[in-house]
Amino acid sequence: MLGDPMPLSPERALLTGTPKSGFSCKMVLQAVGKVLRKSKGKPNGKKPASEEKKLYLEPEYTRVRVTDVEFKQLVTLPQEIDLNEWLASNVTTFFNHINLQYSTISEFCTGETCQTMAACNTQYYWYDERGKKLKCTAPQYIDFVMSSVQKLVTDEDVFPTKYGREFPSSFESLIKKICRYLFHVLAHIYSAHFKEITALELHGHLNTLFIHFLLFVREFSLLDPKETSILDDLSEVLFSEENREAVGATGEAQNHVKER
Ligand SMILES: [Zn+2]
Repeated sequence: MLGDPMPLSPERALLTGTPKSGFSCKMVLQAVGKVLRKSKGKPNGKKPASEEKKLYLEPEYTRVRVTDVEFKQLVTLPQEIDLNEWLASNVTTFFNHINLQYSTISEFCTGETCQTMAACNTQYYWYDERGKKLKCTAPQYIDFVMSSVQKLVTDEDVFPTKYGREFPSSFESLIKKICRYLFHVLAHIYSAHFKEITALELHGHLNTLFIHFLLFVREFSLLDPKETSILDDLSEVLFSEENREAVGATGEAQNHVKER
């Protein structure tokens, strides 16, 4: 493994480099919480995503990124790097970012607001170690995802970091499994919590993360296109040239990328 997998992904620095400290972020979250709670007013709090307009497809949001870096170059395997090292390093980084992104809205993702793990009319079920299908709420499902991925990426037998240790033969299938789960979390954030994401002004970060993640899984065929098809409408817009031209990245973000 590389000593520190993080520098491989530029948006980590962008995500963590935002001026929001933990304290002020909490204050923002509390304020947003108040607004959202006030505006709810539905008797059972249930609002099927299908009945709502897809907020995440609105041009005012799809145009926003935190950088307009060439992601295709970012995901390509560098010559001197071993494929498994590259996959391990990037997937660990995606896991950290998606976990971070979810944590910003997790207080709005509860057993009441999200009774099932749904994303764009698709429902996901968790399967326990014995293969038994479990019906669970979205926060439970995401908790299963995060804890099982955390366990894998810190398991020296699966993600070796010490010199001379080999990747297991099941490595590729485990990477694919992790990517599937991480995609489910991203899809849930988009379809069920995009309103909160925009209230926090984090849609630029989410779009950037989604584009980077999707290009990466496509580059190494880590996900079945059928799996990601539920967000094809979004990826089409985000990847369109027209939309790209409309992107206004901040000077700071661009400078950061150019320095690499
Ligand atoms: Zn939720």
